[in-house]
Amino acid sequence: MARKDRDADWITNDAVDDKPAETCWLCGRPVGKTVDRFHPIPKSRGGRDTVPVHPICRETIDANFTASELVRHAEAGKALTDNETVARFVKWVANKPADFHSATKAGR
Ligand SMILES: [Zn+2]
Repeated sequence: MARKDRDADWITNDAVDDKPAETCWLCGRPVGKTVDRFHPIPKSRGGRDTVPVHPICRETIDANFTASELVRHAEAGKALTDNETVARFVKWVANKPADFHSATKAGR
C-alpha cells in the first residue's frame, strides 16, 4: 500500500486560519475545522481523488449510497443530490454552522 503516504498529506496541515476556505463537495458550504476527505469514486473501485466534505455530509453519503452507486453517479457525472434524502439534507444543513454536527449521531 504505497499510496498510503499521499492520503496522509492533509493531516499534516498546520492549524492556520489564513488559507483559503475549501468548500464541501456535497453541500457547497465552506468546510469547518474538521474536514473529512471523501473519495467520490471509492478507493476499492480504484478512485484516487479526494474531495473535502463535512463529517456530517460524509455520514450522509455513507448512509445513502453504496460503493457501486457512487461509481455510477461519478461516471454519469450526476450530483448525489438526485437522491431525495440527500437533497433534503443539503437544504436542511445549508444554514447550519460549518462545524455543526448532530450530537444524536454520536453513538452509531
Ligand atoms: Zn457539507
